Amino acid sequence: MIIVLRPDATKKQIDHLIEKVKKLGLKPMVSRGVERTIIGVIGEEDVLRVQPLEAFPGVEKVMPILKPYKLVSREFKPENSIVDVEGVKIGGKKIAIMAGPCSVESLEMLMDVGKKVKKSGANILRGGAFKPRSSPYSFQGLGEEGLKFLKDVKKETGMKIVTEVMDTRDVWMVEKYADILQVGARNMQNFNLLKEVGLSKKPVLLKRGMSATIKEFLMSAEYILAAGNFNCILCERGIRTFEDATRFTLDLNAIPLIKQLSHLPVIVDPSHGTGKWDLVSPMAKAAIAAGADGLMIEVHTNPEEAYSDGEQSLVPYRFDVMMKELKAVAKAVGREI
Ligand code: PEP
Ligand code: MN
Repeated sequence: MIIVLRPDATKKQIDHLIEKVKKLGLKPMVSRGVERTIIGVIGEEDVLRVQPLEAFPGVEKVMPILKPYKLVSREFKPENSIVDVEGVKIGGKKIAIMAGPCSVESLEMLMDVGKKVKKSGANILRGGAFKPRSSPYSFQGLGEEGLKFLKDVKKETGMKIVTEVMDTRDVWMVEKYADILQVGARNMQNFNLLKEVGLSKKPVLLKRGMSATIKEFLMSAEYILAAGNFNCILCERGIRTFEDATRFTLDLNAIPLIKQLSHLPVIVDPSHGTGKWDLVSPMAKAAIAAGADGLMIEVHTNPEEAYSDGEQSLVPYRFDVMMKELKAVAKAVGREI
């Protein structure tokens, strides 16, 4: 249930209400907006049948939520959430650009790609040090050494770092190096991992599972918020359909739809969403036009030799061309790159 307070509700009235909710054994999650305060109530709401909260001073309305998610919902927070990654804001007018190789392979390559994508306008460096691979014989990532390389490139370029954490046991370590913790598509419903990153102070980038509905996607984000971490960014990265001409089917519907349902920022990964480098730029443009708050793009200096996902990686020159073209699209929809 969601309690909407009157714009003129006093602090005393709000505190009194919060106390009452707690006393009833429910968990109040408070969202203080510019206009008004909203309280999301979590727990067995049946007790409120005997104790209607509408009667409390300062309460404007009490809305039962039929949707299974609360904290991520627009009802809970009508205004867009902006996730601040050490000054880089995701969810505002400016579109966030995350770019870099699929896997961290070496410091030299990462530094080279990092400097080039930064020059083209990317502000967040991506690169996996822990890789979820379909085969146990494929390259699994450099682990902590890869995380150190990411930090080195951050030091040199000033870019923020987004990198995947696959295991609850590694969250403490990845947190030391990353500015954004990425939860990959294959782990979207790893509920223990969601709870663990939900306890982190670092923002989380949650990628949509390849077979997850939008409702399931939002329920997974709910785990992160319910654990206390409201700095959550959602990433559409393609879903499995009958179509096998592309690696996945990038679900552009998800962007405006999630924006209706949730206040969280939504970014798009057209690299995994298409699996083909020459489809990345057109789909990136489409994503911005559809309202995405950011993009995640795989870039490699030598895709032929990439340890993973070379076929969907842009060379830095093509990334640069795409960035220039994206500026015009962003401007057309009232955004900025
Ligand atoms: C990635 O971004 O490197 C990745 C593995 O993506 P996904 O989890 O979307 O497959
Ligand atoms: Mn990849």
